[in-house]
Amino acid sequence: MTIFQKIIDGEVPCDNLYEDDDVLVFRDIAPQAPFHALVVPKKPIRSMAETDRQDQELLGKVMLVAAAVARDHGLEKNGYRLVTNIGEHGGQTVFHLHVHILGGRMLRGMG
Ligand code: AMP
Repeated sequence: MTIFQKIIDGEVPCDNLYEDDDVLVFRDIAPQAPFHALVVPKKPIRSMAETDRQDQELLGKVMLVAAAVARDHGLEKNGYRLVTNIGEHGGQTVFHLHVHILGGRMLRGMG
């Protein structure tokens, strides 16, 4: 079981920013930017590489929630970044699909 599943199940605490039946958003424990949060679908999908057409609506919701959280935290004016890491070469360390929201500073490069 991943750490994110334990957070979803309420076994491990998080700094919760948003939650509904499908999605949980919480602050990253090791922030890489002044604002760094993770948008996590509650469905246990390992990464984008494991998704299929059945997940279309859920994935759309994940992106819309990410944009809404960014808006609520004032990131729209200067911009921000949404990232999802896939597998070892993608830098993924927690194997439960999540989208990073990074903002509050100038972000450079892609890796
Ligand atoms: P990734 O490398 O894309 O798999 O991202 C995993 C992210 O989860 C990293 O940015 C970690 O800092 C973050 N993380 C790991 N454990 C926790 C936790 N308990 N609460 C919040 N964020 C976490």
